[in-house]
Parts: sequence; C-alpha cells; structure tokens
Amino acid sequence: MQDERFVSTGFREGDEEISLRPKSLREYVGQESVKENLNISIRAALERHESLDHLLLYGPPGLGKTTLAGIIAAEMGQNIRITSGPAIERPGDLASILTNLADGDVLFIDEIHRLSRSVEEVLYPAMEDYALDIMIGKGPTARSVRIDLPHFTLVGATTRAGLLSAPLRDRFGILFRLEMYNPTELSAIVRRSAGILKVEAEEDGILEIARRSRGTPRIANRMLRRVRDYAQVHGGGVITKEIAERALDMQGVDELGLDKLDRLMLTATMDKFAGGPVGLETLAAMTGEDARTIEDVYEPYLMQLGFLMRTPRGRVVTPAAYEHMGRKPLQGAGGAEQQRMEF
Ligand code: ADP
Repeated sequence: MQDERFVSTGFREGDEEISLRPKSLREYVGQESVKENLNISIRAALERHESLDHLLLYGPPGLGKTTLAGIIAAEMGQNIRITSGPAIERPGDLASILTNLADGDVLFIDEIHRLSRSVEEVLYPAMEDYALDIMIGKGPTARSVRIDLPHFTLVGATTRAGLLSAPLRDRFGILFRLEMYNPTELSAIVRRSAGILKVEAEEDGILEIARRSRGTPRIANRMLRRVRDYAQVHGGGVITKEIAERALDMQGVDELGLDKLDRLMLTATMDKFAGGPVGLETLAAMTGEDARTIEDVYEPYLMQLGFLMRTPRGRVVTPAAYEHMGRKPLQGAGGAEQQRMEF
C-alpha cells in the first residue's frame, strides 16, 4: 500500500522483513556497548554451562529488540519462544508457556509492561527460582504446589524501563537501553538490506534513506522498500539520491524524516498554544493520534532533534523547530501574527 505510514508500530511483518533480520551479533549493526556487554555475558554463561541472566531491553519501537532476542538465542545455541504482554491474558496462559519450555530456552516477551498484575505474580518465582506455584482447590482446602521449571532466560522488551513495576524490573539481571542509530549505522543497515533484496543502490541514495529514517532500522527498511518500488517505476531500478528524495517526498517524509503527524504536532503547538506548554492529551486530541503512540514513537525523535522538550507543565517546541518549519519563533506575547508560513 502506497500510503503506509513509516512510523506505525503495527506488527505487520512480511517474510521479506523477517529475512532482513540479522542472525548473529556480528551482523547486528551499531549498539556497540550493548553488543560488547552481551558478548561477555554470553561467553561467560556458555563457559559455565549456565543459562543467561534474565535480560530487559528497552527503547523506542523498531530499534532491534526482537532481533537482539533472536540473536541471543542463536548465540547461546538455544531456541526462542516469542510472545507479548497483551497475548498473555491469564496466569494459566503464562503457566502453560513456561511448562513447555526446555532447559536453556529464551522466552521473549514483547511489551512486557502490559502484563497484568496476576500474570506478573506467576513470573516472579519463575524468574527467581525457576518454579511455578499453583493453587489447587478452592476456599479453606486450597493449597499451593510448587512445580520446577526448566532454566530458561527471559528477555523482556519495553519502550521505557519506567513502565515496568519495580518488582518486575528488579528481577532482571541485565538491563540494556537501545539507542537511536546514527546515519552511518543506518546506512550500513540499508546497504545490507539492499544487498539481501538485490536492489541496486548508490551510496548517496542509501545515505538519503538513512538520514530520513528517524534513527530507526525498521523505518529505514520500510523506506528502502518504498524507494525500491519508486526506482523500479521511475528510475530504471537504481536507487539514487534523487530517486530517494522524490520517493520519500511523495510519501510526505521531509529531509529530517518528519512525517505529516510530526509536522502537525509542531505547527498545532505553535499556532494554537504559542509554542507551548501543551499537555500530551491535548496534543493527542489535536492530532487524532493515540497519546501513548505520541509519547513512545513520535516524541523521542523530536526530542533527539532538539525540536521538542518535555517540561513539568507540558510539551514545548523549540526555536529549532520553528526554524525547520520555516517560521519565526515567538518573541513574547502577541507574536503569533508575526509568524511567517512557508509550509
Ligand atoms: P523492535 O523489537 O525493537 O521493535 P525489531 O527487532 O523488530 O525492533 O527490528 C525491526 C527491524 O529492523 C528488523 O526486522 C531488522 O531487520 C532491523 N534491525 C533492527 N536492528 C538492527 C540492527 N542493529 N542491525 C540491522 N538491522 C536491524
């Protein structure tokens, strides 16, 4: 679909996207300090013939948390079982997943902050003692029976570590925060993906995609596929800088990777709130986007660019954002009329 949004969080991975996933730490681009630490933990665990400590990965969507979980399992020579917080509705669902694991397996729980309290409580003894406490019977005759579980490794993923309850967070031995990728790293990812997809791409074209992909590999790969289509129809199949620019402009993505919603958030704050502060819920209502998506997906990149600040009173847009949008920053009150509009 042509107007697919690059920034969406939906899990609509095709086979092609799965084929782009790096399968080893060596292939995994960037996140150098995470890789270095992980490599040591993996080697040490392998030498001791133990399972790896439970591990929490956090950071905005599309930065490679699921990919890294798969790599951890592969490097440990173990299988991975993938599930997500919302998919585990009842304690019994988790109990059945846990009892079906084998020694050494990696259990990946995406959006782990969305586990319910009652499910979390099953997870605590499972993580700490590799045990499951089951209640048998009801009322005064009820008793608890403990079942041993295999020594598995839990890899949890979430957008922000602060979303997890403290008792759950404390049970992870290793916490890694994934950072946004720089254009050089994203270029390496796009180059690698272009190779796998067998599409010819010039270095300038690769860099253009990298620069517009908001520091996010998933977006870079999505853009690569759209630009590939455009190149096929308009450019003899080769991705040049000009083809990448035209294809991404057509998708409403500007030279910094901002899409329509980013621009709407910025301009609405400028026009209706004199640059802020404006509350998250108001931003959500103004843009028609879910508040959580704004917080977890849109704002991290706008903050990284220095276009938006979170203050205790709300969101504030910065002079750099005014400049990017071709407007003059407000000089005190009554400056709204002075704004020059080029967009
Ligand atoms: P998350 O789980 O954080 O939402 P994923 O692991 O699903 O992100 O990554 C999205 C896509 O981006 C993957 O399909 C993979 O192809 C690509 N990707 C992510 N991180 C990297 C990386 N470090 N190197 C190369 N490709 C990556």
